[in-house]
Amino acid sequence: MNFINRINRENSSALFEEAKGLFPGGVNSPVRAFKSVSGPPLFIESGDGCRITDVDQNEFIDFCCSWGPLILGHNNPEVREFICETVAKGTSFGAPNQLGNELAKLILAGNKYIEKLRFVSSGTEAVMSAIRLARGYTNKNKIVKFEGCYHGHVDSLLVKAGSGLVTFGESTSAGIPPSFVKETLVLPLNDEAALEECLKKHGKDIAAIIIEPVPANNGLLLQPESFLKSLRSLATKYNCLLIFDEVISGFRIGLDGAAGHYDIQPDIITFGKIIGGGMPVGAYGASKEIMSHVAPDGPVYQAGTLSANPVAMAAGLQTLKILNRPNFYQDLATKTTWLASEISNFAKENGYELTVQHIASIFWINFSTKKITRADQIASEGMERFKILHHELLQSGIYLGPSGYEVGFVSAAHSQEDLESALQIIKAALVVAFS
Ligand SMILES: *Cc1c(COP(=O)(O)O)cnc(C)c1O
Repeated sequence: MNFINRINRENSSALFEEAKGLFPGGVNSPVRAFKSVSGPPLFIESGDGCRITDVDQNEFIDFCCSWGPLILGHNNPEVREFICETVAKGTSFGAPNQLGNELAKLILAGNKYIEKLRFVSSGTEAVMSAIRLARGYTNKNKIVKFEGCYHGHVDSLLVKAGSGLVTFGESTSAGIPPSFVKETLVLPLNDEAALEECLKKHGKDIAAIIIEPVPANNGLLLQPESFLKSLRSLATKYNCLLIFDEVISGFRIGLDGAAGHYDIQPDIITFGKIIGGGMPVGAYGASKEIMSHVAPDGPVYQAGTLSANPVAMAAGLQTLKILNRPNFYQDLATKTTWLASEISNFAKENGYELTVQHIASIFWINFSTKKITRADQIASEGMERFKILHHELLQSGIYLGPSGYEVGFVSAAHSQEDLESALQIIKAALVVAFS
């Protein structure tokens, strides 16, 4: 397939050539390299509201939204102003600051499942720390994870771990000692019997079961509530901690995330993305009792030079204040449901093998008419169509994450009018992808 650019990508191309000499693959995070869609990747110069502009002055309606953090869209004026006000007083002190308290209070106020938390600087760091805490708390070593769930690039969790790796056709990463991987047990999603069997056999060695309760890093693999509830009861039965990795679902599904949506009490919750309002922030939280095991209260060591730095706290704090306004989540869900149903209906009318799976403001283009709940149900043929769709959308002003395994996000900055323009463009692109 020849992909012809109708838009100018000259400056992006030149910068990418330069970047290839600077960074592995020319990027600082693998999926940005556009390996599974037609390149070169676009260098983005600015963003405002739901739109981004690249270095060749092409403008796009953005459904990637920095992979999830930007639930308010780009350059939200209130968030920007609070960041600027804060940054004028200095960027980091490595000492406690009041904004950290404020952000923590806001996170905890809306979430009855955790009592204390600790800020870190990324989702990966949050998960890594949560795993250490679970091991330190239970004095056990093994971790159960699910195929297709991504938990950041933590060594022992890079096993069958989500889109970036699936796209590269690898089930794991080089550079991880087999002895680490041995401590990780990988199970299919939505298979209660497999989980019970695994716990029966290894339960005495298992420190924690970790899951994305809304798996959104390898398609959107929404789980039946009964399966998620069985995780809770089986974790309790076999004395393992249940970790909900809510780096993507936290403050996306609602103020109390997936735990609140399903009303399930996990033992540890990890956060990232939205709580930083576009700045690098992660966090992990649990009951006071479990958190008392973290240093300096307890023996589980965890620290960070830039943890809870005031600028990042300010971005998160102002973002969360806006999320707490009336009807914020209802409005976003209504818009997303509208977009997803319109696309699904168009596909159905035209006999295209395609549906849009969605929850809250997350959507995923599923190149199948079946509801998909497990990573191994995603057919790779769909990815060829995605490549065409992605290319067509870029040509006509829509930016999606550059892989068919990635979900899309609707932000508060996408107006109904923006979504209507987007829908027309998506329909035209689907006609090409299915021709
Ligand atoms: C994004 C993500 C991570 C990793 O967060 P980073 O900030 O990229 O390190 C971990 N878990 C889940 C569920 C995520 O979506």
